[in-house]
Order: sequence, then structure tokens, then C-alpha cells
Amino acid sequence: MPARLIDGRAIAQRIRDEVKEEVLILREEFCVVPTLAVILVGDDPASVVYVRNKAKACGDVGIRSDQHLLPGDVSSEELLNLIESLNNDDAVHGILVQLPLPPHISERKVLEVVHPMKDVDGFHPQSLGGLLIGNPLFIASTPLGIMELLDQTGIGIEGKHAVVVGWSVIVGKPTAFLLLQRNATVTICHVKTADLAFHTRQADILIVAAGRPGLIHGSMVKEGAVVVDVGINRVGEKLVGDVDFNSVVEKASFVTPVPGGVGPVTVAMLLRNTLEAYKRACKR
Ligand code: NAP
Repeated sequence: MPARLIDGRAIAQRIRDEVKEEVLILREEFCVVPTLAVILVGDDPASVVYVRNKAKACGDVGIRSDQHLLPGDVSSEELLNLIESLNNDDAVHGILVQLPLPPHISERKVLEVVHPMKDVDGFHPQSLGGLLIGNPLFIASTPLGIMELLDQTGIGIEGKHAVVVGWSVIVGKPTAFLLLQRNATVTICHVKTADLAFHTRQADILIVAAGRPGLIHGSMVKEGAVVVDVGINRVGEKLVGDVDFNSVVEKASFVTPVPGGVGPVTVAMLLRNTLEAYKRACKR
């Protein structure tokens, strides 16, 4: 039987509705508008679209988004000064720096300057370190979204063998730790993994975040596995994931589509993180 699709759009809509309702109540209570500052450096077309989508998503749930559009040749110092001023601005509850940054700017240095209490992207070392000890301030939206997709689909995690393909700081590693925290047995695969298919075939839950279209074919998937395709790749005019959907859908029990799977839930989790940052600030 072909796999059932995990409908990321529907799950994201439920989260957005919840966030919207809570924002409405809290705005009345605290008389302060939750605000996300979004910084975009340069005019990378994909980043421009992502920033526009995030701004729209914020607006839809009553979160204000202040966009800071900087030229591609902005100096590191100017960017760091802007972040410092947003850190010190009580009207700003969350700060998001759209990645990638131009090569002359150190991403790590920039992400370390964002105040940990405003780090709604979860990329600050304090958030990442917190993940390691099981108590993060914020968790990055994509890993959080992946867990939400699994949970809302009713997929048990404890005791399962989860295989994560890709170990980036923003997707693969945090996802692997979240799965481990939920008592999965976790394998992490990367470019140097010998015999990738051997590992992916062991997976009860297979998370693929490599940025390589068609990397995972149905022959590499165990019968009945749950497959979460994080990849977003532009092939010609089409957006595709890392998974060869047509062959994988015949083997898996559940699969996320691209588009319409992890992407919408990632944006919804950013809204939830921003709401959380706002609530913490209001409590302070
Ligand atoms: P990244 O930083 O480029 O990391 C890719 C990872 O995949 C690396 O760890 C790399 O291993 C591994 N990898 C690459 N080719 C491989 C192969 N042939 N076999 C095994 N491992 C391989 O990318 P990322 O930021 O994690 O993003 C991954 C994908 O997810 C991209 O397509 C991106 O656009 C997408 N994404 C989607 C969302 C969403 O909301 N849906 C959010 C973020 C990212 P090495 O480190 O060993 O080279």
C-alpha cells in the first residue's frame, strides 16, 4: 500500500491558529505587540522569498515583523551594531538573521551576538549547548517542526531506530539530539558514511536533510518506514526534496511531500518560538 502523506500545511495551519489565538489574548493583557526583527543581508532570491513568507506569516497571527534590509557589501561591524541595538530594544522580542550571509561575514560570529533570550532561530551556542543537556532556551524551527510532524501524525519515537542523513548545525545535529532525547536509537549519516543505503534501510524513521535531490531512492528504505524529507532543491522550475518521492512512496508508511511537508511547519515553529520569546519578556 502506498505511504500516507504527512500534510505539513494542515499541521502548520493548526499551530498558526493556536499562536494567533494566544497572541490576541496576550496583546490585550500586556498591551505590547510581539515583534520579530528580521535581518536580510543582500538580495539572494531564495532568501528574499523566505523573508517575505516569514513576514506574511507573522502578520497573519498578529506578530509585528520589522525588516532590516542591508546591502550585500555591508561591513560585519555595521551588522553586529544593528544586532546589538536590537538586543537592547525592549520592543523587539525575537531576532532572526536570514542565512546564508555573504562570504565576508562570519555567520558563527553574527549568530553568537544575538541575545540568547531573543534567539528565536535557536542557533546561539547557548541554545545549541542547552540541547545537548536537554534544556535549550530555543530549538531551531526546522528540527522542532520535524518533531511536531511526527508527534501530530501519532508516530511513536521511543525505541525506534531513527536515521538522520546530514549533520548540519541547523538541521541534522539538533534533530538527531531531539530524537535521542525521546529515546530513539539514532544513527547520523554524512558525506563520508560508507554504504549510506545500508544505514537508511535500518531506519524506522528516516530524516533526510542533505540538500541532494533524489539522494534517497525507494530501494534504500525499509518497508513501512516513516520518511521525512527536509531537502528543498530547485531543479529547473520545480522544488524537490532529497527523496525520490515516486519510489519511496511505494515502500514507506508515511512520507512528507516537498513542497508542503517540513517547510510550512518550520515557519509555524518560528512563530511559536517568537511567541515564547515574547511571553518570557513580558514575564520579566
Ligand atoms: P547543509 O548545511 O549543506 O548540510 C547538508 C548535510 O548533508 C551535511 O552534513 C552533509 O554532510 C550531508 N550530505 C550531503 N550530501 C550527502 C550525501 N551524499 N550523503 C550523506 N550525507 C550528505 O544543509 P542544511 O542547511 O542542513 O539543509 C539541508 C537541506 O534541507 C537543504 O536542501 C535545505 O534547503 C533544506 N532545508 C529545509 C528547511 C525547511 O524548512 N524545509 C530548513 C532548512 C534546510 P557533510 O557535512 O559530511 O558534508
